[in-house]
Amino acid sequence: MTIAENVARVREEINLAAQRCGRNSEDITLVAASKMNGFTHVREAIEAGITVCGENRVQEMTVKNAQGAYEGAHLHFIGRLQKNKVRQVVGVAELIHGVDTLALLQEIGRRATEKGIVQDVLLEVNIGREESKAGFAPEEIPEILESGESISGIRIRGLMAIPPLVASEAEIFPYFSAMQQLFVDNGQKKYDNSNMDFLSMGMSHDFQQAIACGSNMVRIGTKIFGPRS
Ligand SMILES: *Cc1c(COP(=O)(O)O)cnc(C)c1O
Repeated sequence: MTIAENVARVREEINLAAQRCGRNSEDITLVAASKMNGFTHVREAIEAGITVCGENRVQEMTVKNAQGAYEGAHLHFIGRLQKNKVRQVVGVAELIHGVDTLALLQEIGRRATEKGIVQDVLLEVNIGREESKAGFAPEEIPEILESGESISGIRIRGLMAIPPLVASEAEIFPYFSAMQQLFVDNGQKKYDNSNMDFLSMGMSHDFQQAIACGSNMVRIGTKIFGPRS
């Protein structure tokens, strides 16, 4: 399968998943998770209609961006971001998905203000409460949204999660449903600098279930680019 064929098939699967739950697939953003795929593969994906690329590593993103790999597409940062690398990402990536501490949010605000821009971010939720995963506990989200009201240079656009690996497809639903609930609940109250626009969840192996639970941003790597070596 070529990357173009993979993109077409993933789009079709997104369409079907959306249809099954009465949603419009146009409301679902496909982010191509392009880590470990070089310039040529990224270009192939964009030529095949990919409109958003998501990168995990600052160094890799910086190199590929300088090569012009993302031209014609939007760029998101979807990996774990260290505070000392914030400067290299702010204003380069349109959306930073994995903000997992208040200190990181503040640093993003500081760097964005320096650059005279407002940086869009998502708050990462550790929905499975796993030791090994980053993210806020679900109950921390309201206080982070509140703290965000006094941080200039940021706009919180929604939530992101990577749920636990589960043994069967059905076992993922409680996590995705909990995220959907959290997204809806936290969207009820209006906070300055925040708007619950995006629910970023779903990867190659579980994006259809994520869509069934309201995801409007899926991050897909393997099903587009093939297995990473
Ligand atoms: C790599 C990655 C993905 C895509 O994973 P696949 O299983 O290859 O689709 C999605 N989100 C994040 C944060 C990633 O690091």
